[in-house]
Amino acid sequence: ARIEEYGWTGVNECTFIAVKPDGVQRKLVGEIVRRFERRGFKLVGLKLVRVSEDLLREHYWDLRSKPFFSGLLTYMSSGPIVAMVWQGLDVVKTARKMMGETNPADSLPGTIRGDFCVEVGRNVIHGSDSVESAQKEISLWFGHDELQCWGPSSSRWVYN
Ligand code: GDP
Ligand code: MG
Repeated sequence: ARIEEYGWTGVNECTFIAVKPDGVQRKLVGEIVRRFERRGFKLVGLKLVRVSEDLLREHYWDLRSKPFFSGLLTYMSSGPIVAMVWQGLDVVKTARKMMGETNPADSLPGTIRGDFCVEVGRNVIHGSDSVESAQKEISLWFGHDELQCWGPSSSRWVYN
């Protein structure tokens, strides 16, 4: 089964979420997955991967001129990452709210970064910042055959 329209804004909207190497080391995978599941979002892709700096350079291309860029690539390639695709209504924006701010110091308690980390250079989770970046990131991190199209029986209890 394939997700043919994973960029579509609406219930079929998808976002790319990654538990960064520090999140994996700190055993936060279950907690993070749990928050997205309980919110009502649907998991359509998940894998534990260790990625090359080349992929990361492409992933963070917009930040290539930042002073922290090379440290960011080292951080992100320092261990396995849990790469995920989550689907649901306004999932891109809502996931960003669930994550909190880029800098954990500015993140409210109740958000993932606000609850589990303190420094911007170790902020445990990545989430796409727009529907357009989500599409790019999903196609960078996942093959089409790695995404599952499935209809949970709970759909009608999450959407009216
Ligand atoms: P995000 O979309 O909230 O993850 O933030 P950005 O896209 O702006 O930055 C990507 C990632 O780069 C962040 O999640 C941080 O891990 C890292 N980063 C951003 N700003 C800084 C910074 O000022 N210092 C350091 N060390 N890392 C940063
Ligand atoms: Mg970003």
